[in-house]
Amino acid sequence: MPTKKKSTHPSVPPTVWLMEDQLSHTLPALVDNPSAYVLLTESDRNYRSLPFHPKRIVFLVAAIRHFARELQDAGRDVAHFALKPEGYLDSIAAVREHVKRTGSRKFIVVEPSEYHTRAWLDTLPDQLGITIDYVPNTLFLTDRDTFADWARSLKSPLMEHFYRRTRKQHNVLMDGAEPIGGAWNFDKENRKPFKPGTLVPKHKTFAPDDITQTVMRVVARRFPTHYGTVDGFDLPVTRQHALICLDDFMKHRLPRFGDYEDAMVTGQPVLFHSFLSPLINAGILAPMEVIRAAEDQYARGHAPLNAVEGFVRQILGWREFVYGIYWSFMPTYRTRNARNNTRSLPQLFWTGETNLNCLKQTLSSVIEHAYSHHIQRLMILSNFATLTGINPQAVNDWFYAMYVDSHDWVVTPNVVGMGMNADGGTMATKPYVSSGAYINRMSDYCKSCKYNVKERTGENACPFNHLYWTFMHRYRSAYARNPRMTMMMKQLDRIDPTEMQDMLRQSQHFIDALGATATSAHNDA
Ligand code: SF4
Repeated sequence: MPTKKKSTHPSVPPTVWLMEDQLSHTLPALVDNPSAYVLLTESDRNYRSLPFHPKRIVFLVAAIRHFARELQDAGRDVAHFALKPEGYLDSIAAVREHVKRTGSRKFIVVEPSEYHTRAWLDTLPDQLGITIDYVPNTLFLTDRDTFADWARSLKSPLMEHFYRRTRKQHNVLMDGAEPIGGAWNFDKENRKPFKPGTLVPKHKTFAPDDITQTVMRVVARRFPTHYGTVDGFDLPVTRQHALICLDDFMKHRLPRFGDYEDAMVTGQPVLFHSFLSPLINAGILAPMEVIRAAEDQYARGHAPLNAVEGFVRQILGWREFVYGIYWSFMPTYRTRNARNNTRSLPQLFWTGETNLNCLKQTLSSVIEHAYSHHIQRLMILSNFATLTGINPQAVNDWFYAMYVDSHDWVVTPNVVGMGMNADGGTMATKPYVSSGAYINRMSDYCKSCKYNVKERTGENACPFNHLYWTFMHRYRSAYARNPRMTMMMKQLDRIDPTEMQDMLRQSQHFIDALGATATSAHNDA
């Protein structure tokens, strides 16, 4: 039976309830309601819904605790419900307890970034006898409804169109009505193979303070079966840390970001990437402050335009675009499976145990750091999953569970859409797949691999080669008329039928030997 709503006494302050990815002091919900309670919850149920990497949980929980401390220091009345070493607490129990203690039944909630959170919140007023007023989420620059009207009217909404419009709207890297430098992107100057001997500045790390050490102990105790470990946690968890990281990237890595945006190097999980995504996606840094900082580096002559534009496109273009796509097509978007792939996720995704060196290096980085950079995600992991026909929802759950910067709104379009092209072409007009040749050109992985990147068949043949060409063979009719696939189709036509039969046999044997996990993502609650 629904609980009868009780009215809040006029003198009882409302409650601003912030989610784990809304840790910003500048949210209008906070600024405009200075006497409201601020509710922050650390929910067991949430952290058990997938086998989340322990470092991801530590990052979010430590960030919540430091944010709560900062709010208290600023004089705010904070109701913080913390994850404990023992016992269970979910957010519903926390809200009940908060209402009991304070009598505050009017809740102000910043529009959640994730579909399932909004759907769950919508059940609470009847369940708990509270009211919820939603206010805009200023941690994104895109109006969801405007984007949805535009995206739903097109077969394939193009990121490039959206990006140009958004650059103009926010006056980013613009010279009047024209883009600075006379072009919207400078990718011809970007995406070089890594030059051996190039000095890679180390990104900033932070020794865990008492608060973070407590969180590490709680997480290690509470989630012992999750893959990965809390050991070695050194990520930024405060606004002060975030500003140090922002400054460090702008000064030391942004200038080479464009050059090596797509390069992959053994032992370099961050390379020249910003590693700011966990902070931006948790609300600790605002996207526009990061964009303006990069613009400033260009204006001062400290970073070249190809690097600055490439970086700005990641945040103002891709980040906002995937958010818009997510909210335009959920809830069905998450279940899209255009090629009807049913294969379970192989165990190697959780353990990193494989002879494919590119896969091993990337998975080792994810298992150790809960992070690998964008091109490893796209051209190693998603490429492999697409070529081997793994179920896109299983892959999506794995990415969501294992990356420190993951949230459903960003993972789902990047994996189901861009990475696996399982959305029927909404995000990208062609699949991002490659043979070993691309991986060899952009990384140093092949020279230490048991397989030979030059061979397509035989015992030592690089699996990416036979998997790639048999994938093209299988889906030839789907891609034959795609102008972006013309060159690949011509190369496919030149393959001798006997060699294709050998590759078909070899790739099937390889896929059969992969094995699978019992479930794609377990829930150990
Ligand atoms: Fe990966 Fe093939 Fe290169 Fe080995 S040879 S690292 S499997 S691309």
